Amino acid sequence: MNELFRPQSEGLSAWPRPKLDKPFKLTICVTQTCSMDCQLCYADCKNDPTQELSTAQWKQFIDELVDDNFLHIFFEGGEPFDRPDFEELLAHVNRRLYVAIRTHAIGIDSERAQRLKNMGVGRLYVDLFSAEPDVQDDLTGTPGSYKRAVSGIENALAAGIKVTILGILSRRNHENLQAYINLAEELGADQVGVLRLYPLGRAKQNWSELSLSVDQMMTALNGLRVPETVQLVQSWHPKDGNCCWQNAAVSPTGQSIGCPYLREYVDFGNITEKPFLDTWAHPLYQQLRDSDVEETCTECSATQGTLGGCRSTAYAFHGRFTASDPYCIHNNQGVDLHDLPERLLRKDT
Ligand code: SF4
Ligand code: SF4
Repeated sequence: MNELFRPQSEGLSAWPRPKLDKPFKLTICVTQTCSMDCQLCYADCKNDPTQELSTAQWKQFIDELVDDNFLHIFFEGGEPFDRPDFEELLAHVNRRLYVAIRTHAIGIDSERAQRLKNMGVGRLYVDLFSAEPDVQDDLTGTPGSYKRAVSGIENALAAGIKVTILGILSRRNHENLQAYINLAEELGADQVGVLRLYPLGRAKQNWSELSLSVDQMMTALNGLRVPETVQLVQSWHPKDGNCCWQNAAVSPTGQSIGCPYLREYVDFGNITEKPFLDTWAHPLYQQLRDSDVEETCTECSATQGTLGGCRSTAYAFHGRFTASDPYCIHNNQGVDLHDLPERLLRKDT
């Protein structure tokens, strides 16, 4: 047996993790709309806000989180700033929770950046798919989006807001990844995230043009030179963590979904019908938090203190939440990541 992966039944255990009675951080996918048309949009955003929770409902939910002593809200979408009341919601948080936002940043002018700083926004996570303007504009389906995103990043940094630039590793950027890391340094971002591609939303529909093999991904990652001023965040072996034990997310319509990357696979109940913490008690949610996995990579477990890698991609490719994560180089089990299971392309997955 390969010493780098073991069935969990052999008694392999991660560092003892606290059994949480609630998550530290909760992601609010505040809208399903976005003005861009990205080929790899996991939310499959359109410009139809029908069914989204109202301003009053989100405010009520934010108050519930404060009352329950949550610490951190992460807003994403869709594009949060495309929701007309988004700054009103941020003002409602009123520094009672740490706030981070995932955005395409094209709407962050210097006045907005200063308002965000004044409202206590701690960090922006900016989706920028490439260091090449043409590639970015093509992937977003929006001419000029690269220039405007870079301008948004510069405005945020000038206002004193920390910025992480987030890239999704794909066929469109893997040969030029060093330039992407260098761009983070040039812009003054202190963090750069290189993230895996998930078969969700439009990325699923465009999978054959975007997906890489595990070997191609490792080749792109292994040769990187990371400047001292920049922290590289990535999620491949040996940094493959199963973070389901602490994660929480709510969809634009109020469904508790555990994590944005589980958005197409789970539904733990709607926060307009029950308190969030009741959805946290859902049996499948508990199973995911218990890290019930069939096999785990010992090296990833040792570095991350968790078992089994990402549960979203394990489920996507194997149809079981307990299965191996095929993005782990030692635990891929012969899965060809170019080939998407047929079932994922059906509406009822
Ligand atoms: S910017 Fe983000 S939310 Fe908007 S279409 Fe692209 S991936 Fe989707
Ligand atoms: S689905 Fe993956 S990214 Fe999401 S919480 Fe679970 S392990 Fe983390």
